[in-house]
Amino acid sequence: PNAFDAEIIKLLERMAENVSYALDNFEREAERRRTAQRIEYLASHDGLTGLPNRISFSQALEQAIDSSRRMGRHFAVLFIDLDRFKIINDTLGHDAGDTLLKEASRRIKGSVRSSDFVARLGGDEFVVLAQEISDVEQVAVVAHKLLAALLEPFVICGQECRVTASIGISVFPTDAQDEQALMKNADLAMYAAKEGGKNNFRFYSKDFKTQSPERLSLETSLRQALEREEFLLHYQAKLELSSGAITGVEALLRWRHPHLGLVLPGKFIALAEETGLIVPIGRWVLETACAQNVAWQRAGLPPVCMAVNLSPRQLSDENAMQHLADVLGETGLAAGLLELEITESMVMGNVDLAARQLRAIKGVGVRLAIDDFGTGYSSLAQLKHFPIDTLKIDRSFIHAIPHDAQDMAITKAIIAMGKALGLSVVAEGVETPEQEAFLREHRCDQTQGYYFSRPVPHDEFAQLLLRTSSRPRHVESARR
Ligand code: C2E
Ligand code: MG
Ligand code: MG
Repeated sequence: PNAFDAEIIKLLERMAENVSYALDNFEREAERRRTAQRIEYLASHDGLTGLPNRISFSQALEQAIDSSRRMGRHFAVLFIDLDRFKIINDTLGHDAGDTLLKEASRRIKGSVRSSDFVARLGGDEFVVLAQEISDVEQVAVVAHKLLAALLEPFVICGQECRVTASIGISVFPTDAQDEQALMKNADLAMYAAKEGGKNNFRFYSKDFKTQSPERLSLETSLRQALEREEFLLHYQAKLELSSGAITGVEALLRWRHPHLGLVLPGKFIALAEETGLIVPIGRWVLETACAQNVAWQRAGLPPVCMAVNLSPRQLSDENAMQHLADVLGETGLAAGLLELEITESMVMGNVDLAARQLRAIKGVGVRLAIDDFGTGYSSLAQLKHFPIDTLKIDRSFIHAIPHDAQDMAITKAIIAMGKALGLSVVAEGVETPEQEAFLREHRCDQTQGYYFSRPVPHDEFAQLLLRTSSRPRHVESARR
């Protein structure tokens, strides 16, 4: 080959090299882009349901605020929370929980327009951004559709399962104009929907704001209630199913308000907690309940274990332990005849602190119960790390026995798991003989509810205790 040909060949070789280099580069670039897209997808979507996640929702919300502001349009944020999802997840297993979430997200997407943005915020929380709405009626229709779609039974692992949802709605710009406030208001409305009995939706209302005039006057009178001696305790029996005997009692706070009459704790405990008044009120409850228990014993009545409810602030109050020891010392009540009831959320918030507090309480010999079990977000697996003696099944599970197969399955599972962990299991809100029979059949330890007795003043409780303890035939009939 002559010199010219050799040059050509070299040139061609170099070109080929360049081409393959360019191709390599191109492929690498494409690969890089695919990876970047994948990462972006993973970062912006929820792995389980494939729905956009919290981050992309936040972006969509920001855009909606921008464009609605420019165009003078309204939009709504619908905050959806599945009721009692956690307990289904715990009793039927995580795979069942995952299947349920996937199906729920399909139904939510299927209930809204394709232009509406649906995201999963985490856990059992979903959110819908309903764009360009003309009036609130239209949003109410969407909320109805969502509730109806979720109410249809889910078939999971061949088992029918029902969940309901609670939806809170806030509207731009009527209820709020920025991302944070819109989310906060939708969240507040969601809680109002839950309190209103679940399977329910609520629009945000300014009344949810805590600074209402009624609240202010309630707060003032609550501040004076202690010194004016307006508080009193009612006592509700806990019945041991195996013997039919009253073995325990729960002290329930009442407020004899000068104008409102007898006010139940549902109306003022939250306010007392927010304002910190719960600490002195709670001290009064503890002192009164312990002194009452000693008084019954002195009157010759059989000993019962007195349960007292604690609220979160009381548990974190640094003087609580000293006060507890003082009350036991001053009243002379045996520590084993006092049980403190706390809720799941109280221990799940700050696990380390709670564990320390609870160990201190156990250290002086006082018993501990988890109240309203099944409504919060803890599982028995987590609870076993705490020194607990008793588990109280929330009354919402007992309510539909014997008509609701799912609630019955959950109740059975809680009893079995509780007992496997060596806990004493109490069912709250027992209102009918059928419910009691079901609980006895499944070896629940104790019941508490209107069927046996409502919460009553101390003298009536003493009568009840006297009557049942001197009536062995009642015990026999219960033993059958
Ligand atoms: P809780 O500790 O779960 O108390 C049981 C509630 O269920 C009581 O409501 C009781 O009257 C009600 N109940 C009992 N049996 C039945 C039944 O068969 N059917 C129905 N539907 N309800 C039944 P109450 O007295 O209104 O108390 C509500 C909540 O207020 C209590 O729930 C507890 O969390 C709180 N609470 C009561 N007293 C105190 C207290 O001294 N301190 C604190 N921090 N909280 C208290
Ligand atoms: Mg209680
Ligand atoms: Mg309870």
